[in-house]
Amino acid sequence: MVVVEEMAKVCGITGRIVVEGNMGALGILMRYGSEALKRRYASWVLAGDKPVIAISEPEAGSDATAMQTTAVKENGEWVLNGSKSWITGGGVSRLNLVFAKLVEDGAGKGIGALAVELGQPGFEVGRRAYMMGLRGIPETELHFNNCRVPEENLIARGFGKLMAAYNAQRVGAGTVALGIAQGAYEAALAHARERKQFGRPIAEFQGLRWMLADARIRLDGARLLLHRAASEVDPVSGFPDRELAAIAKVAASETAIAVTNDALQIHGARGYSRDYPLERMARDARMFTIGGGTAQTLRNVIADAITGQRVSQRREG
Ligand SMILES: Cc1cc2nc3c(=O)[nH]c(=O)nc-3n(C[C@H](O)[C@H](O)[C@H](O)COP(=O)(O)OP(=O)(O)OC[C@H]3O[C@@H](n4cnc5c(N)ncnc54)[C@H](O)[C@@H]3O)c2cc1C
Repeated sequence: MVVVEEMAKVCGITGRIVVEGNMGALGILMRYGSEALKRRYASWVLAGDKPVIAISEPEAGSDATAMQTTAVKENGEWVLNGSKSWITGGGVSRLNLVFAKLVEDGAGKGIGALAVELGQPGFEVGRRAYMMGLRGIPETELHFNNCRVPEENLIARGFGKLMAAYNAQRVGAGTVALGIAQGAYEAALAHARERKQFGRPIAEFQGLRWMLADARIRLDGARLLLHRAASEVDPVSGFPDRELAAIAKVAASETAIAVTNDALQIHGARGYSRDYPLERMARDARMFTIGGGTAQTLRNVIADAITGQRVSQRREG
């Protein structure tokens, strides 16, 4: 996390490459995959080829369990049909962890994750969506049309169990958001000390001093919550605790939006200009309350935990 924060201070997407590839998809593979799958795919990852994790669909975002992609077992193979959307690294990563509804002997058997290789017949990479920020990795559609996957490529079954690995990704994504915010804060602080208007450094104006103080409060809070979530591992899943990861990601992602926005303001026209990195940081930061569980669905997770009433079901995709 310390390394990812440092990377993201300068380049959010570089931090995200580490997090996206390693925390979610790789976590699932290493925790639940067979020895044979780990042996085959871990070597790809170690060679720098990050896996993608494909859960979301056009009609199933926060409500991830409404997914329509199916994997039907036929003659010792899984036959995949359906489409995924917004998949980070789609078309770039060779290894694709695809979530699908399993069907065996005509009966639904819950959600499972399958390892699907790029270039497999029946697997097509669709349109790339051009996003507001974080453009260094593509977000694409993935289409499966009678794509046949060997039986042993089913990594694990059970949506709750698979989503436990996502708690690690949420802590990782929060750390990228924190790094982007820390980078913007440091730039704003340096600028506020240096830039003079009305004969004094703008850091002397109370309106800006309070922005900087608020940024410091938010950053310290988010970092402490992230480090707590990373260190308190759920003994059953081996991944970070669901509630603590949700708290940390909401805090860090909302911190990133607020701090990059204020840092841009402190830079005046320079902040709004593409000659400086602030506008990129603000665009990059905007993603983190959406991808990997929105701030609203994560609040539902937190509310479930604190009230003991599970209203949000298991649908925080
Ligand atoms: C840059 C980026 C990268 C992504 N990468 C991936 C990826 O690699 N793999 C993948 O599978 N997915 C990926 N996603 C998709 C992401 O997981 C979804 O965007 C997210 O789950 C939200 O789904 P949605 O966009 O369909 O929004 P919706 O679910 O349609 O939500 C729309 C709005 O309604 C709110 N809302 C929904 N349900 C509730 C509720 N119960 N209570 C209160 N508010 C609610 C949401 O918070 C949101 O504000 C990515 C998204 C982005 C932006």
